[in-house]
Amino acid sequence: MAGIQPFLEQALALHDHLCPRQILGIRIGLYAAELLNLSLPQSDKRLYTLVETDGCFADGVSVATGCWMGHRTMRLMDYGKVAATFYDTQTERAFRIWPHPKARQTAVCLAPTAGGHWQSQLEAYQIMTNDDLLCASAVQLNLSMKALISRPGVRTICSVCGEEILNERERIIDGQILCQSCAEESYYQPLEPILAHSS
Ligand SMILES: [Zn+2]
Ligand SMILES: [Zn+2]
Repeated sequence: MAGIQPFLEQALALHDHLCPRQILGIRIGLYAAELLNLSLPQSDKRLYTLVETDGCFADGVSVATGCWMGHRTMRLMDYGKVAATFYDTQTERAFRIWPHPKARQTAVCLAPTAGGHWQSQLEAYQIMTNDDLLCASAVQLNLSMKALISRPGVRTICSVCGEEILNERERIIDGQILCQSCAEESYYQPLEPILAHSS
């Protein structure tokens, strides 16, 4: 297994604490490198990661893989699950990886004197074998990665709110370009009149 120490330090620097979920994120990211035979963390955009929860776990995945929301190589599929799918844009192969259902028990057996389950997990998750810690499965994606990634520089304007839409996220309804907020149920509604408008 590749040494996880540098990644632990990076995760620690991001969060000023180290926790089992960050370590799971790192281990899952490193396992993805093995399964897809990639050298990670990447400095390009070859690998794309779909994480199934945010928080410490996602940052652990990021430091190990080099996939970041800020690089448009990571997306949150918010299932509230400690799991991630890794998609190689070159080979179009994908693996989903998640913790072994017995990982917590194994951790307590491996590090029984660590002082509590949390501490056992923190220590054991760093040294457990991939087989003890993780499960993985090759998967086929039910979404278009091409559409998800889109093309650099694509932008348009919503015909209702006038706001800019990036990455081909618009909807075309009756020939009109609409943002998702105007076209569908929006996650917010304004409480006050708009304070400033460009037109
Ligand atoms: Zn944490
Ligand atoms: Zn709009």
